[in-house]
Amino acid sequence: MTVRTRIAPSPTGDPHVGTAYIALFNQCFARQHGGQFILRIEDTDQVRSSAESEQQILDSLRWLGLEWDEGPDVGGPHGPYRQSERSAIYHQHSEQLISSGHAFRCFCSAERLDALRAEQMANKQTPGYDGHCLHLSEAEVAERVAAGEPHVVRMKVPSEGVCTVQDMLRGDIEIPWEQVDMQVLMKADGLPTYHLANVVDDHLMGITHVLRGEEWINSAPKHMLLYQYFGWDMPQLCHMPLLRNPDKSKLSKRKNPTSITFYQRMGYLPQALLNYLGRMGWSMPDEREKFTLAEMVEHFDIQRVSLGGPIFDVEKLAWLNGLWIRELSEEQFVDAVQAWALNPEYLRPMVSLVQARVETFSDLVPLAGFFLTGKVDPAPALFEHKKLQPDEVRKAMQLLLWKLEGLRRWEKDLITMTIQRVAEHLGLKLRDLMPLLFAAVTGQASSVSVLDAMAHLGPDLTRYRLRQALELLGGTSKKETKAWEKLLEEI
Ligand code: GLU
Repeated sequence: MTVRTRIAPSPTGDPHVGTAYIALFNQCFARQHGGQFILRIEDTDQVRSSAESEQQILDSLRWLGLEWDEGPDVGGPHGPYRQSERSAIYHQHSEQLISSGHAFRCFCSAERLDALRAEQMANKQTPGYDGHCLHLSEAEVAERVAAGEPHVVRMKVPSEGVCTVQDMLRGDIEIPWEQVDMQVLMKADGLPTYHLANVVDDHLMGITHVLRGEEWINSAPKHMLLYQYFGWDMPQLCHMPLLRNPDKSKLSKRKNPTSITFYQRMGYLPQALLNYLGRMGWSMPDEREKFTLAEMVEHFDIQRVSLGGPIFDVEKLAWLNGLWIRELSEEQFVDAVQAWALNPEYLRPMVSLVQARVETFSDLVPLAGFFLTGKVDPAPALFEHKKLQPDEVRKAMQLLLWKLEGLRRWEKDLITMTIQRVAEHLGLKLRDLMPLLFAAVTGQASSVSVLDAMAHLGPDLTRYRLRQALELLGGTSKKETKAWEKLLEEI
């Protein structure tokens, strides 16, 4: 048997360090067994998926030095590797499950399901589908389908007994069937849910081992059942421990930058970041801290993964990055700095912002050095505002940060519109918020156009600096978070 593993990211946001971590372990496992590693894009959520996000994920993983043998960009014998291009395959498999009696069409309206859920919650029951459409006659189903009535396809699930999931790290995990919902497999729009598409693709792509985050453990019974219904062998499952913030909570961008592009922009070396991810729950037999991908593959043993939640600690990462940087030759150092930001691609868009404002090149650093730093250091006095009290300044900053975090495409017009809307919501003009943005983003009272600067700096550094500024001003209390979050929908 050839070992085949995969990473299956959903392109719904920034390329997450957690994706790289899981990809790394899948790649090491495959390579160590002389097998193959596949990249599949799970973009069945049409609303949240985007081509930009997909591209960023591919670029970021490649920047880190990961390499897949098959994928949407490199092709392969089991394509297409993008789920949105495989609709007919899922449709056919869903019909097969209906014919074999393992799945059924469900016509329940969203209102009915909401009411059901509310009732179950009120009675302290586990919310789940109640089987309302399970026993509709074939004739009735055919009639309602012919009449064009919207419906989903759900899988049948045993109501009693216990499902035993075998996990390579955790041994047998028992989950009572009554906790497993009659999962929707096909949505009313004719697209599959994650569960159906994931199982069908893992099978058709010959995946033998599924290494993925532990948040998927509860989905494993549904997947097991689907493999059984189709009569297929199930890949071996291995649920990896989730990355955590230093306070042990699940790694989240509210507490720590989680986008790979942030670390790229900050000037981390890809080898160092990959090395650090390899230290997440895993260690070399001799416990050395610094190792290359090739060394990790050579010594890889999945059983050395420890299940205690690995802490993604930016300070530790910076320390490790320092080790790597100090071991570069002077020539490698120069190459790395150029690849980072001292290259035409990064500098060129700055020219139109700075050219008219400098007399000598040595004016560049005081004017635009903030393009090359990570943190800026604004004086708190820069946040004193003519129209806003300190609390209102924090509120404005927090709303700006949240709104900009939600922005899908990072373009000047969209950034401006977003800020404009926050300003209007606060009864202000766009220009009233400018001094705050200058202070937070450039660290200065004035500089080159701050909207252009934000567009060029990119979402990661811009948000990071807004977050830093907010912290400088005292942060947002839990109570304020609750109250201000409510405002977000109105903006
Ligand atoms: N698309 C899922 C994700 O975004 C993949 C989960 C899995 O590996 O099964 O994490």
